[in-house]
Amino acid sequence: MLNGKVALVTGAARGIGRAVVLELIRAGAKVVINYRSSFAQVEGLLAEIKEAGGEAIAICGDISREEDAKNLVSTTVKEFGRLDILVNNAGITKDNLLIRISEEDFDKVISTNLKGTFFCIKHTAAVMLKQRSGKIINLSSIVGVTGNIGQANYAASKAGVIGLTKSAARELAGRGINVNAVAPGFIETDMTDSLPDKVKEASIANIPLKRFGSAQEVASVVCFLASEAANYITGQVIQVDGGMVM
Ligand code: NAP
Repeated sequence: MLNGKVALVTGAARGIGRAVVLELIRAGAKVVINYRSSFAQVEGLLAEIKEAGGEAIAICGDISREEDAKNLVSTTVKEFGRLDILVNNAGITKDNLLIRISEEDFDKVISTNLKGTFFCIKHTAAVMLKQRSGKIINLSSIVGVTGNIGQANYAASKAGVIGLTKSAARELAGRGINVNAVAPGFIETDMTDSLPDKVKEASIANIPLKRFGSAQEVASVVCFLASEAANYITGQVIQVDGGMVM
């Protein structure tokens, strides 16, 4: 399905990013795995891909720094000659009630989740515009649509990702580049692992499918949006949330 395609996935050593990498590899793409600090996990992931006969490299970089984002894109092109799929997955939370969020924690979340996504799109778009094709998939969140108590910084960053997605989709559509967002609900990863049991139980009560989703279930949707089957979809926010918001 994605044979001959080259993909770059940010923050991909663990969680949803890792599942996306493995799904893209299964579909036949060559993958560049960006990580920031999870060196041991990325080593394991590279070994797993090699064992399965896939092709991937890993690049360390902090996407909130424009130089690092630029380097990710230029190294991808240097190593593989092109860039067909960008998955902006890297993200962080610094949860607190609104009146307790420090300026530092507000800035950190916006810098990674929103500005980092912007930097990666900006430098990737320069390559894709010349190629006259490409697929960009941004990880937003259902709380970017609904807002959430204790997540004003995170929800603002993820709502920003939706605005960024729609603007980029309009700007780049003329050159055959599709830009979409995926908005997961509660997915079982390190990010949700730390939630207190009470919060988890209350959340499940509000999910029609009565369970959290898996990283794999998000990865399948990302992989679909990266494929030619999604050629007529752009500027959309696809919710993967067990029906939580409808
Ligand atoms: P996770 O397990 O916490 O993993 C986050 C990844 O982001 C890590 O691999 C981390 O890299 C990377 N990262 C953080 N800051 C970075 C930076 N400045 N530069 C490069 N990489 C950076 O999270 P997840 O649950 O898989 O979430 C993945 C994405 O889905 C995020 O954007 C998240 O907001 C979104 N999402 C998740 C859920 C959920 O329920 N899990 C729901 C909605 C949306 P290192 O480990 O190498 O530092």
